[in-house]
Amino acid sequence: MHVSTILDQLNESQRQAVENTEGPVMVIAGAGSGKTRVLTFRIAYLMQKGVDPFNILSLTFTNKAAKEMKDRISRFVGHQEAKNLWMGTFHSVFARILRVEAPLLGYPTNFTIYDADDSVKLVGNVIKEMQLDKEIYKAKQIFGRISSLKNNLITPKGYQKFPELIEADHAAKIPMFGDIYKQYTDRCFRSGAMDFDDLLLKTNEILTRFPEVLAKYQNRFKYILVDEYQDTNHSQYLIVKSLASRFENLCVVGDDAQSIYAFRGANIRNILNFQSDYPSAKMFKLEQNYRSTKNIVNAANSIIKKNKEQLQKDVWTANPSGDKVQIRKLVSETDEANFVAQTVFDAQANQNLPFSDFAVLYRTNAQSRAFEDAFRRRNMPYRIFGGLSFYQRKEIKDLLAYVRLAVNPNDEEAFRRVINYPIRGIGQTTIDKLTILANTEQKSLAEIASQIYFYGNAAGIQKGTQQKIEEFATRIQSYQALLQQQDAFEVATYIAKTSGLLTELSADKTPEGISRYENIQELLNGIQEFVESAKQEDGADASLATYLQDVALVSSTDDSNDPDTNKISLMTIHLAKGLEFPYVFVVGMEEGLFPSMMSMGSRSDLEEERRLFYVALTRAERMAYLTYALVRHRWGKVVDGEPSRFLDELDDAFVNFPEPEASAFFGDLPFNQQAHQEARQRWRAENANPNRFQNSKPSSPPPPGNLKKIESSGNSNVDSGQFATALTEGQRVVHERFGSGAVVKLEGSGPDTKAVIMFDNAGEKKLLLKFAKLKVLT
Ligand code: ATP
Ligand code: MG
Repeated sequence: MHVSTILDQLNESQRQAVENTEGPVMVIAGAGSGKTRVLTFRIAYLMQKGVDPFNILSLTFTNKAAKEMKDRISRFVGHQEAKNLWMGTFHSVFARILRVEAPLLGYPTNFTIYDADDSVKLVGNVIKEMQLDKEIYKAKQIFGRISSLKNNLITPKGYQKFPELIEADHAAKIPMFGDIYKQYTDRCFRSGAMDFDDLLLKTNEILTRFPEVLAKYQNRFKYILVDEYQDTNHSQYLIVKSLASRFENLCVVGDDAQSIYAFRGANIRNILNFQSDYPSAKMFKLEQNYRSTKNIVNAANSIIKKNKEQLQKDVWTANPSGDKVQIRKLVSETDEANFVAQTVFDAQANQNLPFSDFAVLYRTNAQSRAFEDAFRRRNMPYRIFGGLSFYQRKEIKDLLAYVRLAVNPNDEEAFRRVINYPIRGIGQTTIDKLTILANTEQKSLAEIASQIYFYGNAAGIQKGTQQKIEEFATRIQSYQALLQQQDAFEVATYIAKTSGLLTELSADKTPEGISRYENIQELLNGIQEFVESAKQEDGADASLATYLQDVALVSSTDDSNDPDTNKISLMTIHLAKGLEFPYVFVVGMEEGLFPSMMSMGSRSDLEEERRLFYVALTRAERMAYLTYALVRHRWGKVVDGEPSRFLDELDDAFVNFPEPEASAFFGDLPFNQQAHQEARQRWRAENANPNRFQNSKPSSPPPPGNLKKIESSGNSNVDSGQFATALTEGQRVVHERFGSGAVVKLEGSGPDTKAVIMFDNAGEKKLLLKFAKLKVLT
């Protein structure tokens, strides 16, 4: 394809951002304005001009995004060329580089990558061994703190040089944090393992300590491109900066209004400081949105302009106006899910749309359950992103643990996972003794195990148990030896058969057991595919080490074990970044949920939540629905919901407001445009109290067992009694389960209003209106 064909598909500013290939370039632009497209086309353009793909490094937010980009580029320049591009997430690209360079730091090239689960477990073990109180030293939180230090390049040694960090930990009543951090780091090292943050930290360490290695990669990556630059952390920033410092052919694209990972260390300053880091930088603005209708773009603009901290942008679109953004008020989370399911069902059926046109976005993973139920009941296919991924399932992790040991026997977490699974009579006490030995001898568990006859007696391990440990160690060694002779698939299959895993699973004839067995088969199929495709690609690496690396770095949006893509997508808003769908439902638009309770205490946290809402809304191409429920189960209790302040902030002109009465929804609500226009006025008036958010004091989610405060939150603006006022005695109603009937009597008031209803078929029932799925027949 010719260069001009590439440029023809871009507008003027996009074209400039593509053509200015030399020197630093930053594109800061609103959602849907073609930033990712600019990166993609820029790479194709560079290659057209003769730049070798081996010299181009492109860093994306997910591996899926990298793959899509690569496919796209292949269409311009051909697959053979495109496949040589260096492209992927920071973690996957630098894991690949560390496979070569890690020995410089004393790691093996076949190092294991610990996922978050492995890391938290290891932290938990360290806490236990140090005999600290696990209620005070919470493994997950301690690991979070370790992670954030690593992303700021603060090692255990570095930590000791920061009195303010040490003081903070004393004040937070975790004075032993520094010791845990050191232990954790030593243990990873001895296990030949890196956690996710190490992939960046160790890369930085190598680039700083070994100038010749830095020079090698500076020369290799003559052109560097970074998508979603607003969400890079300090560690990532430094890697980019050092790699780019020789040629400075660096192009970063991002949107400050979409920075949503500050809680994980993303640093918006990376954007703001770009110009001072690179004084010669060229800046491009893209203002035309190609993704969404006018109503969606304008509604989103009206939200983001409420943020004080933002770079000025005027996003507009030449797309049609489309429908207004729809706000819907539902009685409960079940109704919310039913409304969404039914709306998808109708739209899909009437207009013959694929299910993949629809996405449901929520603030917290816990919200997905109601939607899963509603979709399942209607037999509608859906896919949850970021839930428990295929590779996180127990049986899969078990088999992979054996495979990991075959590749790297020192891998402590894998060793612990399977030394006694399937059960071979090596109990926890024995494992504890092995751990103490390993710590005093500064060896890995596998090394101790393989010399158990030497160490065992002194450690008080029984002869019989010593023999079992020896057998296990020998088994792992035999797998390791096999790796020298056979391919990844053959070895993995052999391991599944001989480790006892398949025997254990095939004994379980429950449906869950059968599905676990099938999952193992599926994993083996996956490994086979990996081997076959690697064999086809000239020079590709078909080793288990590479396979394990790919698996460890599968990010939540990448989990593509399921080839059927015609499904409704369900995911948190955080995961939806960069994606687009014709129809988007942003659900759970309630105070305390979105914006989240935790964010309501500070302006900057609230602004991050608002950016999150901006991200959510701007995923929609044709239609956006925003829903909220008046009651919802949270933390095991029923809580009253109050519409999110973000709904209030939307400009009236682009939004349809709901009818004043919440609807219990089961599928056949007529949509009345006129009523909605009137409803908008009423909704505004109803929610107009400017102080209504002032007194909603921020508070943390209550600990389990102390939920009363939430339940009786007196400042709720939603008068639950309004359901009751919508009902009068004698009225005809329909109930989801009991069918039609007549209201005999109303009892009580407010949220506790009950109705006695004589159902035509089901007889007399007394129902709490807050929960009863009633629809009034008129
Ligand atoms: P986000 O901020 O959400 O990451 P973005 O700025 O990266 O968005 P893209 O995803 O690159 O935007 O583009 C949004 C949509 O608009 C895509 O479907 C893209 O193909 C389309 N698009 C962008 N520019 C053009 C153009 N010049 N002509 C036609 N379509 C375009
Ligand atoms: Mg993008």
